[in-house]
Amino acid sequence: MKVGIIGTGYVGLPTGVGLAELGNEVICIDREQSKIDALKAGKITLYEDGLEELFHKNMKEGRIKFTTSMKEGIEQSDLVIIAVGTPPHPVTKEADMKYIHAAATELAEHLQGYTVIATKSTVPVGTGDDIEALIRKKNPNADFDVISLPEFLREGFAVHDFFNPDRIVVGANSQKSCNVIKELYKPFEEKTNILFVKRRSSEVIKYASNAFLAIKIHYINEMANFCEKTGADIYEVAKGMGLDSRIGPKFLNPGPGYGGSCFPKDTMAMSYMARQNDVDMTLINAAINGNTKRKKEMADRVLNAIKGIENPKIAVLGLAFKDGTDDCRESPAIEIIENLLENNANIIAYDPKAMETAKLLLGDKIKYANDMYECLKDADVLAILTEWEDFKNLDLNKVAKLMRNKNIVDCRNLIDAKNVLTNGFNYKGIGR
Ligand code: NAD
Repeated sequence: MKVGIIGTGYVGLPTGVGLAELGNEVICIDREQSKIDALKAGKITLYEDGLEELFHKNMKEGRIKFTTSMKEGIEQSDLVIIAVGTPPHPVTKEADMKYIHAAATELAEHLQGYTVIATKSTVPVGTGDDIEALIRKKNPNADFDVISLPEFLREGFAVHDFFNPDRIVVGANSQKSCNVIKELYKPFEEKTNILFVKRRSSEVIKYASNAFLAIKIHYINEMANFCEKTGADIYEVAKGMGLDSRIGPKFLNPGPGYGGSCFPKDTMAMSYMARQNDVDMTLINAAINGNTKRKKEMADRVLNAIKGIENPKIAVLGLAFKDGTDDCRESPAIEIIENLLENNANIIAYDPKAMETAKLLLGDKIKYANDMYECLKDADVLAILTEWEDFKNLDLNKVAKLMRNKNIVDCRNLIDAKNVLTNGFNYKGIGR
């Protein structure tokens, strides 16, 4: 199938590479010239585990191309996937639809023959109707269907999740468009639940899922606070809870709060939509407020560890919002650092993959180290903020010699607490 993908970011690029690997003819469209130039030159523009190899393979075999031209990307496509950003509106925090509306308007005039337009971006309920109206207005004779095809990939596992989705949700109001999607996902039909629903239901499924996961994280973080006060261990508690099949063991890891480009913005967008429809979503609002407070609480833990030390130096390990990605959007690490900077902290940081993306957000407000041990030299506290595997294997003997004061605030519970205490560190983990 000929597939055009509008938006070549964390969703568009893995989707494009994955669909090419399945044998489709893919053309990725992005308005950022530098991104397309790099991709055309064979240089990958973001980090995702396993993506680079597949990208090179499919480039070489001629199944994936890149362009800034809407005409080139849309004209020949049987299926057009919209994967542009829907960031929070700066004032209202609803999903900002300017990129979606622009993409719909720009693609309209290039449609030729029957085309399915699938929205992979996370969009408010009713957006399918808006896209349809925008296209119809610009090109009244076009033969097309607009469907909702929400994306559920996890950053860091985007390639894995593309080939092993838990489910594929399709919101379509016409049988003809369903048939195109059935054909596209034929390789998955044996192993994956493909759920066909009304377009509006599909749009809501995406927000309802993300908000639920955000609430689950917020819940376990609050429970971790309770465990710390009462001598219980959150891991034992989470294990005991997770054995109940109604609860399940996943997403019960306490930490510094949820982040990334999805949960924060999608919970705010859901809360906005609920208010617009006079529905009181108290749980989502509690998660939003609690999660903001959580980052401040984590910063306070770091500041407490260095109380009384003159000109303290804070070493931060981890800047990405999670391991396996270089994405720092809404990263708890960045927000915690910003909280610390408000207290005039002197910070040096290291991340195995996210140094460049973090620099775009933090600039020269902090210093950057070349590796984790350089980061720790003469530090008064180590704050672990992302769960990278590398940090688990820190040589604590070496760390003890490098640091000026032996304090660790481990917001990801990465380090073996017993080992740390025998090496003479003051250690503060989460929930135990
Ligand atoms: P991104 O910012 O990484 O990528 C968006 C890309 O779209 C950018 O490269 C931008 O230049 C391009 N773009 C914007 N307008 C364009 C236009 N008119 N024409 C051509 N290109 C245009 O965003 P992302 O993280 O890939 O997210 C995209 C959507 O997918 C969002 O709605 C997001 O909520 C949703 N989503 C993201 C994830 C994730 O893990 N990142 C997961 C599921 C769903």
